[in-house]
Amino acid sequence: MERELDPELLAYFHATRDAITEEHKAYLLQHPEIRQILQDFLARLLLKKPDDIYAFANEYFSYFKPAPAQSGIMPLVICAPSGCGKGTLIGRLLKDFPDAFKLSVSFTTRPARKGEDNGVNYFFVQRAEFEAEIAANNFIEYVKYADNYYGTNRKQVQAICDDGRICLLEIEIKGAQKVFRSGLACNYLFIMPPSVESLRERLINRGTEELEIIEKRVAIAKGELEELHALSFFNKRLVNDEFEAFYAQVKAYLHELYPSLGFGAK
Ligand code: 5GP
Repeated sequence: MERELDPELLAYFHATRDAITEEHKAYLLQHPEIRQILQDFLARLLLKKPDDIYAFANEYFSYFKPAPAQSGIMPLVICAPSGCGKGTLIGRLLKDFPDAFKLSVSFTTRPARKGEDNGVNYFFVQRAEFEAEIAANNFIEYVKYADNYYGTNRKQVQAICDDGRICLLEIEIKGAQKVFRSGLACNYLFIMPPSVESLRERLINRGTEELEIIEKRVAIAKGELEELHALSFFNKRLVNDEFEAFYAQVKAYLHELYPSLGFGAK
């Protein structure tokens, strides 16, 4: 027969267990990134279904860098397939809230489009210059996208954060994953098109690319939308169908993220 525990000891056990549970809960609340990392790991594992789980885990976690010292307000990563209206959204945010945001101007090896200015839309550089920046570890992340390099400059992001503004990172999905693994704490917004067909139409109507490049971008977008299911760190996913309705949702989300900055007002 089981012996009953001494009531005093039992009460002590319960109190200790409750105290530890509370301590764990407080720690998890203080570090939401734990849940994000574990969810992201599990989602990617299920997406890839590797045979060797240990090798997969070893590779997955090897990408993580120790979190850099971070000051200022958290940057906002805005990610979307090409043609989903990222540029329009960012232009509107900068116009309506000029004191709250600053865009991190990426480096790219893509040629400037008509109307784009160096240092404003991008820093347009030659491949050799871009590769020198990689070698000097000057990028938080960089990717090759549709045959060109794109990268986010580390010092620029830090300077914007130090200035007390929300640094906007307008990047594609692979870059967003790299930012997540870089340890830089950010908020992540993903913009989706109402459909792949509507995306193709928008790219054609935009008229900035040849048909062949448009098809390449549509193919990348399909891959990105498939991959999105496995990426749990995007705290918000919004569909951009009618811009004003979409913009109202973005502002509501910003108000949640940065309540003191008055996004609810406009
Ligand atoms: P576009 O050539 O249309 O200006 O940009 C192509 C894609 O690259 C877009 O999805 C854009 O958001 C993304 N992009 C722009 N700058 C960066 C960057 O610094 N890093 C990454 N990863 N993507 C970028």
